[in-house]
Formats: sequence, structure tokens, C-alpha cells
Amino acid sequence: MPSDTLLITGGAGYIGSHTVRHLLEQHERVVVLDNLVFGHRDALPADRVTLVEGDMADAALVERVFAEHAPEAVLHFAAFAYVGESVTDPLKYYRNNLAAPLTLLEAMQRHGCRRFIFSSTCATYGDPVRVPIDESHPQSPVNPYGASKWMLERVLRDCDTAWGLKSVFLRYFNASGCHPSGEIGEDHDPETHLIPLVLQAAAGKREHITIFGTDYPTPDGTCIRDYIHVCDLASAHALALDYLRGGGETIAVNLGTGRGFSVREIIATAEAVTGKTIPVRHGARRAGDPAELVADPALALKVLGWKAARLDPREHIESAWKWMSRPHGGRYRK
Ligand code: UDP
Repeated sequence: MPSDTLLITGGAGYIGSHTVRHLLEQHERVVVLDNLVFGHRDALPADRVTLVEGDMADAALVERVFAEHAPEAVLHFAAFAYVGESVTDPLKYYRNNLAAPLTLLEAMQRHGCRRFIFSSTCATYGDPVRVPIDESHPQSPVNPYGASKWMLERVLRDCDTAWGLKSVFLRYFNASGCHPSGEIGEDHDPETHLIPLVLQAAAGKREHITIFGTDYPTPDGTCIRDYIHVCDLASAHALALDYLRGGGETIAVNLGTGRGFSVREIIATAEAVTGKTIPVRHGARRAGDPAELVADPALALKVLGWKAARLDPREHIESAWKWMSRPHGGRYRK
């Protein structure tokens, strides 16, 4: 029989670790399965979380985890998430983001675990044909990263039909910010995301930030994104769990604020937060970057009772700056 333990794959990563922290505050019992390729041991409170170090594609290990902990639900964060790399090495992405979770799903089926919360992405929509993007927007991913997530959504729907697996696909927009305590944060290697790169430039850790494209059809010519605070993402996972516990059907839900900010606006806000002048260069567009990605988050409010609480990217940047300003400079121990 499933217990009330939650199995969290990728729980030592950026969004996973913030969600673990939130779930612990909600008095949930948590087991993390993470191979620590991108995750960080120090992102988890060792005294309050069982960390199983290993891979979700390791069938024997996954079987042991299910036999020992009998999780009632799986929150699945573990994935590769470098869009550019997914274009040059698609099989790596299909192997890790699509094939590996099948092992996990087989164990769930065997053990009668029928609740799944999936870290999906707005990249499953591809180039938007309308903005804001609601969940009925056509899904036409333009890179293997987005395609791998979209395909797993399809797999999960088929598992619902076949054996009653109920899933919530949480389609994240641009995750940003860090826990306000400064105790956990964002530490990617390599780092490709705008806000941490801008803050590294502010801290003098890189010479400049390059704006990828200044000729987009937007008011200031730079791309517009919907930046969603990682703590708001975390709270959405807890509500998605409540939804499934309440008998909710499989559903896809956007997680965004519904507001867009340009690259230039983010840089200006980072200058205001840090009090530093950030050297900027203008570069070419990055392949596959749509001009504007903004969520219509209405469904999340309707079905999960969730809406983003941190709407101003200033708050995101302040929390990220706090994390980066710690003695470790925003880097976990290796
Ligand atoms: N961006 C940029 N320079 C950088 C990194 C990102 O101009 O060094 C832009 C990028 O083109 C996009 C926005 O910042 O419009 C957010 O990019 P990020 O990689 O953070 O997230 P994505 O939108 O790709 O998920």
C-alpha cells in the first residue's frame, strides 16, 4: 500500500530543492532520488530528507526505493535542460528526459502508485501563435528539449488510459530567483540563464552580458519572458499534490505570472538592485528564441487555487543577488 511518502526525482536541483523545502514546511515526508550530476547534496537538509543517490533509469535501485518507501506520489524534476545542447545531442535528451522516466513509471505501475507531478515546460508550445499562452495553445516544440517533455506528457496520458495514472503537467515559464533565506539557490554549470548571468556581470565575475538580439518586434527590441519565482513554483507543486489527492484528473497547467519583461528591463532592474553598472554588449539572436513568451495562468488559479505571489522581477533579482552575495558566491560545495 502506498504510504504518505513523496518521491522526488531531481530533488537536489534548483527547482526540486526549493520544492523539497516547501514540502518539508508543509510537514510532508520526502525521499529524494538524485544522481547529483546537476544536483547538489548541500541543497537538501540532510537531517530531514532521505537522499538516495542514483539514477532513475537504474531499475533495481528504483525497485528498492519503491519497496522500501512505498511512495504515494512522485514529483518528477530530474531532467536535462540545456536547449542548445539538446539540438546538438538529441539522443542524450531523449534518453534522459523520455526513456529514463519509463523505468520510474514501470515501478509506479507495479507498486500501484498513481500520482505524478511532472516538471513540464512552456518549451512544449514552441513558437507561440498567440500570447498570452493558455494550455490549449498548440504544442509544437522547436527543439529536442521541448519535444522530450512534450512526448513524456503523451506517455503519461497513455498511462492514465491504461492503468489510471493521474498526472499534473506543470508547464513552467522562466524560473528565477532563490529562497529568501539565501540558504539555497541557483547553481548551474554551465550557467545559461539570463538573471544569474546578469548578476555575475554585476559582481565582476564576467566581463559583460550579451543581449541575444535587439531587433525583435517588441517595444525595446529585446525578448520578453514571463519570470516565475522558484518559490511560487514550489508552492504550485504542493497544490498540485492536493489536487491529485482530491481525486483530480490528469491536467496540464501553466505556471507563470501572466506578465512579461524584456531583457533590457531585467538588466535595468539588476542595476537598480545591485547598485552596479552592468556592461552590456549587443549580440545576434539565439536560435530558437521566440520574441515573447508569456503565460495565461488563469487555469492554475481555477483548478489548483494557485497564483504567483511574487510578480515583480525585482524581488526575484534581490533574492538571487542575496544568494550570490554569500561567501560561497552562489556556488554549492562540489
Ligand atoms: N538572454 C540574453 N543573454 C544571455 C542569456 C539569455 O539575452 O546571455 C535572453 C534570451 O535570449 C531570452 C531571455 O534572455 O530572451 C531569457 O533566456 P534564458 O536562457 O534565461 O531562458 P529561456 O527563455 O531560454 O528559457
